[in-house]
Amino acid sequence: MELTVAIPTTPTGGAAISLRDVIRIYREVDVETIALRGIDLEIEAGEFVAVIGRSGSGKSTLLNLIAGSDRPTAGRVVVAGIDLARAAEDERSLLRGRTVGIVYQSQNLVPTLSLLENVALAAALAGRPADEPTCRDALEILGLAERGDHRPEQLSGGEQQRAALACVLAGHPSVLLADEITGELDSAAAASVLDAVDRAHRATGATVVLVTHDPDVAARSQRIIELRDGRVVVDQRLS
Ligand code: ADP
Repeated sequence: MELTVAIPTTPTGGAAISLRDVIRIYREVDVETIALRGIDLEIEAGEFVAVIGRSGSGKSTLLNLIAGSDRPTAGRVVVAGIDLARAAEDERSLLRGRTVGIVYQSQNLVPTLSLLENVALAAALAGRPADEPTCRDALEILGLAERGDHRPEQLSGGEQQRAALACVLAGHPSVLLADEITGELDSAAAASVLDAVDRAHRATGATVVLVTHDPDVAARSQRIIELRDGRVVVDQRLS
């Protein structure tokens, strides 16, 4: 079955992220996997949302669509006013570089550079001010003020994860996406990363979407969205 891409005309209001009737089907040679089966979601600017669900429920697929690194098979994804299903590749890559910041579990730090240099590089790549005071501020928000001159290998796992967050924040994204960033950390390090996400959320006012399979991590957010088999089964506001 070939799905046609629907182009709804309804306005999306002031939401930072809006998904309407979103379907994502992965097609391989003779196998089809329906990863998302009709997602309708509005996330307001400045919200801190956790997306939970078992492995295979569609969390990463959802995040990749919001990040503009993938397109829906059908439906509409609008982020910061840009309709990602219809946007040209250069517009989507500008969105990824400027508006949306994404932090993954695996680090993207340059091993030969100090933390401060890593942050400055990330800021410069995003076309943001990369001067030392600005970069030190980013590290301070994440509790890494004393670590600016260290290289990544000299940091603990939790510090490396916070450093990766600092690099993403250096690009001043208005939408911050995080994919299982506490998955490989012990509980103390995970707590330090979540504290850092909290501080970054408060300091920047960015919209935060945090994907996790851990209910305790999700409880730190303002709103929990649970996916099951590619559908939203819970959408609960905590505060
Ligand atoms: P989660 O992040 O919740 O673990 P995913 O979004 O990664 O879930 O996956 C949802 C479903 O889509 C799973 O059945 C997964 O196997 C499938 N899937 C994810 N990515 C691909 C891909 N690139 N090609 C084929 N199937 C995929």
